[in-house]
Amino acid sequence: MTNEKTEKNKDFTELLRENGLKVTSPRLRVLEEITHKEAAISQPDLEKIVGKDIDRVTLYRILSSFEEKGIVHKIFDLNGTATYAMCSSNCTENHHHDQHVHFICSICNSVYCLNEVSLPKITLPPHFALHSLAINAVGLCANCQKEN
Ligand SMILES: [Zn+2]
Ligand SMILES: [Zn+2]
Ligand SMILES: [Zn+2]
Repeated sequence: MTNEKTEKNKDFTELLRENGLKVTSPRLRVLEEITHKEAAISQPDLEKIVGKDIDRVTLYRILSSFEEKGIVHKIFDLNGTATYAMCSSNCTENHHHDQHVHFICSICNSVYCLNEVSLPKITLPPHFALHSLAINAVGLCANCQKEN
């Protein structure tokens, strides 16, 4: 148990260093919480968990710096609330390569990265330049299917 935690912290420490971010305990804590759940996590939900230790402004700054550095990516849930999930390792500063479909559950509003479902190539009309493409699949997650 302790070993596992130390291992993880070591990886996160490296991840922060690689991205030129100072290793601080709030940053490590946020990474730990984002990876803890299978689904993406919103800032309000993160606040509920870490709010006692990390104030709102700091949390906001941590999340925006992580997003900018390509450590996490943002997905909007069905209420338009931003949720955060870890990026693939080939995301770099200001350049995300998370080319996968996201799944949002219409009952519990959980957001999942479907890393194995890649986005289709699309052709735009002339004079349009593509910066990003997002596809959200909406339906029932495994947990909600069990309960219904
Ligand atoms: Zn990314
Ligand atoms: Zn669900
Ligand atoms: Zn994702």
